[in-house]
Amino acid sequence: MPAIDKDTLRRKYLEERDKRLRPDGNDQYLQITGRLAHYLDDPYTPRVEREPKTDHVTVAFIGGGFAGLVTGARLREAGVDDVRLIEKGGDFGGTWYWNRYPGAQCDTASFVYLPLLEETGHMPTEKYAHAPEILEHCRRIGKHFGLYDNALFHTEVQDLEWDESRSRWIIRTNRGDEFTAQFVAMGTGPLHVPKLPGIPGIESFRGHSFHTSRWDYDYTGGDPSGAPMDRLAERRVAIIGTGATAVQCVPHLARACAELYVFQRTPSSVDVRDNRPTDPEWFAEISTPGWQQRWLENFTANQAGGMPEDDLVMDGWTDIARRVRSRIMTLPPEDRSVARMLEAFEDYDFEKMEEIRARVDSIVEDPETARKLKAWYRQLCKRPCFHDEYLQAFNVPGTHLVDTDGKGVERITETGVVVAGREYEVDCVIYASGFEVGTEHTRRAGFDLTGRGGVRLSEHWAEGMRTLHGIHVHGFPNAFIVQPTQGANLISNIPHNLTEAGRTIAMLVRHALDHGFDEIEVSEEAENAWVELLLSGAGMLLGSPDCTPGYYNNEGRDPGARGRLMVGYPHGAMAYFSYLDGWRSSGVFEGLEFR
Ligand code: NDP
Repeated sequence: MPAIDKDTLRRKYLEERDKRLRPDGNDQYLQITGRLAHYLDDPYTPRVEREPKTDHVTVAFIGGGFAGLVTGARLREAGVDDVRLIEKGGDFGGTWYWNRYPGAQCDTASFVYLPLLEETGHMPTEKYAHAPEILEHCRRIGKHFGLYDNALFHTEVQDLEWDESRSRWIIRTNRGDEFTAQFVAMGTGPLHVPKLPGIPGIESFRGHSFHTSRWDYDYTGGDPSGAPMDRLAERRVAIIGTGATAVQCVPHLARACAELYVFQRTPSSVDVRDNRPTDPEWFAEISTPGWQQRWLENFTANQAGGMPEDDLVMDGWTDIARRVRSRIMTLPPEDRSVARMLEAFEDYDFEKMEEIRARVDSIVEDPETARKLKAWYRQLCKRPCFHDEYLQAFNVPGTHLVDTDGKGVERITETGVVVAGREYEVDCVIYASGFEVGTEHTRRAGFDLTGRGGVRLSEHWAEGMRTLHGIHVHGFPNAFIVQPTQGANLISNIPHNLTEAGRTIAMLVRHALDHGFDEIEVSEEAENAWVELLLSGAGMLLGSPDCTPGYYNNEGRDPGARGRLMVGYPHGAMAYFSYLDGWRSSGVFEGLEFR
């Protein structure tokens, strides 16, 4: 590889970022409500009428994705039978319920990404499983742990109110339910509210349109398993967005459409995927008792904070971590200051991104298209992508890259999409425009919590998120949150965060039931101390303001004091999991008060 001119690259990265910075940040996107609400309709499962619930359960869990499933599973294992999952979709699965676009698959190796494999006895069929298998696995967990019995689907929680006199939560939903639960837990996911780009004229388009998380197979033909989308053979289709979703579905569209226009604002970095079927003999050898926990721990040790001798998982994420580590290890021990380590990290990054850019040239036949597909930012500025057919799709006749040079689509008309004054007439527009991230938590969740003394969670968090372990909030007894922030914050394998939180919650609920406690609540001092500990760390790992804008860095705008709280345990994910294990197994649950 030719020598890397670091200064030139640094300048180029900043120039490309500056092209994309815009004053409206998250406000550039449209919230899907009112006349746009049909974009949220469930195309997969018909809604079934039912009587409203007015009963009482021990635990209500909001969200039927991985978070709800793993927590529900651990609760059932702990002998808590009346667990009710409440889910806005028509079945379990969360992300994997909604995202059925062609080509959808996980980017973290299935063996660590799919939870509860050992408990359910499932062998992932591929290193990176496709969406239908992941959705089926969600259903498998639901069935295996009896979570369907009490679940409410196509139901959205609108309000949660703490009833002080009875030490229980009152839960109200859009289906007229008003029932109570001693404990509530929430796992509504970070990326579940689709957003549309606020492109002028978007509502005027007369053709067909949908968001990738509501794929319209009636219109396109085909199915989530990759059957050809035969109804597109005569169609001109636009896809807006080139993030991780588009990278996976563009190859399928390229094969199916008469003409495909891919509208790009910022190219993704697309590295090698190298997917392969699982060899059952190999799997039989590795899947000895306790295997998945060992793999999870090995993955996390490779990613965050360990110096493991081996890398069992060997996926795109551990590859990044391994290379960064080996780069740092080339520094003499006396030279391993933070500054020198960051420099070594940057060196790795320049090399990796040059490799990824060279890969574009080696695959894409048209040099101009290849030039436009190159990503000019550090690899972790945006979600790294891995695919072995995306770049190749631009060699398929009829597939056109329409690069907007960082500006985005100019306008949408009744008949097409306009960039740089030219209208591209199309029959269908597919929005691969992502999900709300930087908006208010209550807007995304669709409900607020009214805790002790009538205080709302949005008020308690007015200056930013405050928790113990990302799970417990002072003033909100018997409520638990299942998500990574302020805990391990292991972004490369979200399910590991969720399974550990699920384990914690099951243990606490069991403890309360066994000892006759009505309430569990984190003390104010413990919450404050945890927040202080979080703030003592190095800050956010992702989301540098030097990066090209995106949801990792709040669209390039300073997230302020609230942003500084969107961090994890300062000593890393590995250290967090081991700390949490000790905290739980001591049986003291320091910082919590039981009444
Ligand atoms: P993203 O938010 O990553 O991408 C949205 C895309 O829309 C970007 O390319 C964005 O450009 C583009 N865009 C926005 N506004 C405009 C505009 N006005 N004109 C043109 N383009 C525009 O959404 P995705 O659905 O792709 O991915 C979201 C996340 O979901 C991923 O980051 C990942 O975490 C997860 N995911 C995971 C997968 C997996 O594990 N395999 C697969 C798919 C998604 P710009 O970059 O310039 O903002």
